[in-house]
Amino acid sequence: MIDLLVKNAKIEEGDTLVDIRVKEGKILAIDTASKEASTKDSEEKASFIYNAAGQWVCPGFYESHIHLDKACILDRCNIEKGTLDEAIKETGKAKKNFTEEDVFKRASRVVEMAIKKGTVGLRTFVETDPKTELRSFDAIKKVAKKYAFAIDIQICAFAQEGLTQDKETYQLLRQALDHGADLVGGCPYKDEHPERHIEMVFDFAEQFDVPVDFHVDFDLNPSHSSIPKIVEETSKRNYQGKVSIGHVTKLAAMPKEQRLHMAKLLKDADITLTVLPATDIFLNGREHKTLVPRGMVDAKELARLGINTTLSSNNILNAFTPYGDASLVRMANMYANIAQLSKDSDIAEVYKMITKNAAKPFSRQSEIKIGNPADFVVMEAESSIEAIRTVAQALAGFKNGKQTFSNEKALIFFT
Ligand SMILES: [Zn+2]
Repeated sequence: MIDLLVKNAKIEEGDTLVDIRVKEGKILAIDTASKEASTKDSEEKASFIYNAAGQWVCPGFYESHIHLDKACILDRCNIEKGTLDEAIKETGKAKKNFTEEDVFKRASRVVEMAIKKGTVGLRTFVETDPKTELRSFDAIKKVAKKYAFAIDIQICAFAQEGLTQDKETYQLLRQALDHGADLVGGCPYKDEHPERHIEMVFDFAEQFDVPVDFHVDFDLNPSHSSIPKIVEETSKRNYQGKVSIGHVTKLAAMPKEQRLHMAKLLKDADITLTVLPATDIFLNGREHKTLVPRGMVDAKELARLGINTTLSSNNILNAFTPYGDASLVRMANMYANIAQLSKDSDIAEVYKMITKNAAKPFSRQSEIKIGNPADFVVMEAESSIEAIRTVAQALAGFKNGKQTFSNEKALIFFT
């Protein structure tokens, strides 16, 4: 007797379909699917049978950088200029009135969106500063617990609005880490002393033995990059493989030689770089009246140089990104389109940015392999490439062998 049988699943590019058998939350067997609806199936005792009918089945997607605490607040923000400064100011004002219930409700809405789009892991930043104190953090902890049956949530205690000049933020970050934050994050470009800010965030990381994640280099001026300092601290503290940086749009503005020099530094320090296309193209280049630059990093070049790159939603329905559905497949499609990619091999790399590469900081085994947790997402496509090209819908998801959501295929009623 097995718990789950997923029939006719496509788990590799090509024509082969497989049947996946699950027992006690783990993958027990993966066999070539039998062509005829055999007697074996009817004889086989499975508590639940799901027919994937030749559709793409993968272990699910990982959102490596998102802000659940400030999602869905468009109605509280006034967007006139559409700049980063305005977004931070407007959010800062709204943030003062965040209550735990309010954050819980908005974050839950986004987590449910993400689950239904096939996301199984998510790293959220949570601002812990005098404006919200620990209200957002406490709410997100509850959200993580409530949805753990479907999604793994990592919480990053985050100093968005400066640290060196703000003792209270410093204490609140410490409290959040004391209360179980999974990692610590900073934003040096919002601090009067960016280099000291980086050191202080690393100090916390070392003290609590957690990874670090920075928002950096978020403009289109190629000078004053924070990369050399972050690389220096990473090496000094033996933090290779435990550091991520997001945005880094300065790279898109740098001449090739300078960009390749930065890339080499990132590669040697084993730093993960996260591209956030929806926010990057919304906020950047506002001073241009014609031919507005896209200001998005070319991850293809970085990946070719051996850097771990990921792709994420960042913000949903707020002043940083007044759009969003928490769909990583849509984000991958948007990125590939802006990056002018066309070849299957390039789309395959983009797919890795929301699966394998993004799963790296999570402890979960994200591969459909015997012995691994039975985590599956069924896409309305026959390959990973098709899923991204068509922004395919996620049809169903399973975690530890238990179904977590279902979306119905749309039907046409011919007359
Ligand atoms: Zn962010």
